[in-house]
Amino acid sequence: MTFSKHLILSCAATACLAAPALAADAVARLSGPDGAEMGTVTLTQTPQGVLISAEITGLAPGGHGFHIHETGSCAPDFGAAGGHFNPGGKGHGYTEGGAHAGDMPNIFAGDDGKARADVLNAAVSLDQGAAGALFDGDGSAIIVHESPDSYGEDAMAGGRVACGVIESG
Ligand code: ZN
Repeated sequence: MTFSKHLILSCAATACLAAPALAADAVARLSGPDGAEMGTVTLTQTPQGVLISAEITGLAPGGHGFHIHETGSCAPDFGAAGGHFNPGGKGHGYTEGGAHAGDMPNIFAGDDGKARADVLNAAVSLDQGAAGALFDGDGSAIIVHESPDSYGEDAMAGGRVACGVIESG
């Protein structure tokens, strides 16, 4: 049983516990408005959608809107990422007319400012040319907002506190 022994040994590190079992296909490295590194979001294509796995630091404690925005740019400021990724022309939120493909559940930071989240987003794809393709002509970005998303027609999530361009890994 050499193989299983190897697995146990290699997973003794705490990093192994946080890592998804699948290899990531894309990554967004987040930074704050001041350029400070704020963690990493990995994206993995699965048959059921894209598994989005976030490890974020430096947040204010509490809930934060966590979205995919329509343009793969965070410069000169996070406004460059544009609005929510919405190739289907839907309304925002978990509403009758929603949702944007880039709408996702809020993430929550502890008192230490760290947030850890896994989200399965079945409305997007890492395959070029597929419905909801994130690697469209101008790419896509992950944005973390100051406040939690209302999940209603008006997101009310406030300013943009972290941004990362989604890059193929
Ligand atoms: Zn939205």
